[in-house]
Amino acid sequence: MVLDFNAARELKAPLPNLVNGKWMASGDAALPVMDPSGDRLIGYAQSATVGEVDAAVVAADAALRAGPWRTMGAAARARLMFRLADLLEQNVDTLAWLETLNTGRPLAVTRAGDVMASADSLRYNAGWATKLNGETRAPTGPGEWHAYTVREPIGVAALIVPWNVPLAITVSKLGAALAAGCTVVIKPAELTPLTAIKLGELCIEAGFPPGVVNIVLGAGAVVGQALVDHPLVSKISFTGSTAVGRSIVRSSAEHFKRVSLELGGKSPVFIFDDADLERAIPAAAMGIFVNTGQVCAAGSRLYVHGKVFDKVIEGVVSIAQSLRIGSGFDPATQLGPLISQSQRTRVQDYVASGLREGASVACGGEATAGAGYFFKPTVMIDTRMDMRMVREEIFGPVLSTFRFDDSHSLDDLAALANDSVYGLAAAVWSDNLRKALALANRVTAGTVQINTLVPPNPAIPFGGFKHSGLGRENGREGVEAFTELKSVVAQLH
Ligand code: NAP
Ligand code: MG
Repeated sequence: MVLDFNAARELKAPLPNLVNGKWMASGDAALPVMDPSGDRLIGYAQSATVGEVDAAVVAADAALRAGPWRTMGAAARARLMFRLADLLEQNVDTLAWLETLNTGRPLAVTRAGDVMASADSLRYNAGWATKLNGETRAPTGPGEWHAYTVREPIGVAALIVPWNVPLAITVSKLGAALAAGCTVVIKPAELTPLTAIKLGELCIEAGFPPGVVNIVLGAGAVVGQALVDHPLVSKISFTGSTAVGRSIVRSSAEHFKRVSLELGGKSPVFIFDDADLERAIPAAAMGIFVNTGQVCAAGSRLYVHGKVFDKVIEGVVSIAQSLRIGSGFDPATQLGPLISQSQRTRVQDYVASGLREGASVACGGEATAGAGYFFKPTVMIDTRMDMRMVREEIFGPVLSTFRFDDSHSLDDLAALANDSVYGLAAAVWSDNLRKALALANRVTAGTVQINTLVPPNPAIPFGGFKHSGLGRENGREGVEAFTELKSVVAQLH
């Protein structure tokens, strides 16, 4: 057992790396793993050496080319994925406990939104393993032909994961990669390695051949970069900051690696005066406060029609003030902490910059007293589009608010929405579906939600326009992003 805790919820031994089906604990420096709810050291993770990263990639390459993974057939690959999904469900208590300990997210959320949702996404992707077909095509010239396309796995995929929703993001990438027939090396965020290690144990128990799933722990700048630079890595699937995404694109240029990026956002939410406010107000609140704002698609810019502005802001403020903040292990808790002290400082700095530039706090705006990296859900008013807190991603529970009225055309509103380097998501609340759909057409965002607030779904493509990323995850497109398309053209006569 590689995950062993004492009664004080501390790890008995440093977390190891999974290389070619074996746990390796010989690595470099031990990295601290924290409980963000208590500002408390849980234990250490053993950073992989550059040699171990190389061994993991070589093992993944061998499992793909020479090993059983390519020859076992899609049905057998899918069966392993279904078995892993069952194991995720059977281990829901342990996985949710680990995720809550390491991220501070409420246990009810980690159970349903992380573990059970991960089992669902794995099953969804397992279904694609047996359905990735090419097509026959007819060349346009004279002659008799047999021409067709096939989808082949790209090769070894590096899955680089952030700390905000660790297990669900890892499993969503893993499912798509395995369905496509790739082998993988997973690099969890330094801050949140716990559920990745448990997932590694379950992959072994499910019976994945050695080398198909490898896990390397450590700092992004060292271990992540070594993966990005490794010549045998053909595909990089990254979720995280725009700055690191840009540096990955630069590094990948040498070998023209295939890159998928899920980056940040500054997503607008529009509430019209004909919206169902009973639903729109809680959705606007939870769209920014859920996961303490540490969500790439968080609705962080709220545009409200003047006729309902006061009512909506009062409603969102009252929800913000009623949300129970605390340890994720307390069943009454609705909001956990931010992931780290440095993340909390960053959020506090953004609020301070807004105040300096003329915004005011309607509620929150400060940390809570005591241990843990908690921050009160915050609503800002008198915000303007030129403020730093409005232009940049905060990744915390801070909402900027704006008023519009009937003098704004749909083009004017779309111009406000699109006045951002980001283009990840947008939401529209109106009972006039013609208006809502017309605004959806005008918005540069990868996902537009109309009269709903739902988390990303395995069947629905998800990704960003502009600086919010490259490519799409989820859906058939998410699996195809781990394939190369080959055309075979035979001339018969
Ligand atoms: P980050 O540095 O981009 O981290 C994401 C992942 O990339 C982590 O596993 C990280 O390792 C790794 N990484 C870092 N540098 C790398 C490199 N040169 N090559 C390969 N991998 C590398 O994000 P962060 O610093 O944790 O968070 C900073 C900000 O990013 C947040 O405040 C937020 O704005 C944004 N963010 C967005 C998302 C999202 O879902 N779109 C998620 C998380 C953060 P380490 O663990 O060592 O950093
Ligand atoms: Mg970083």
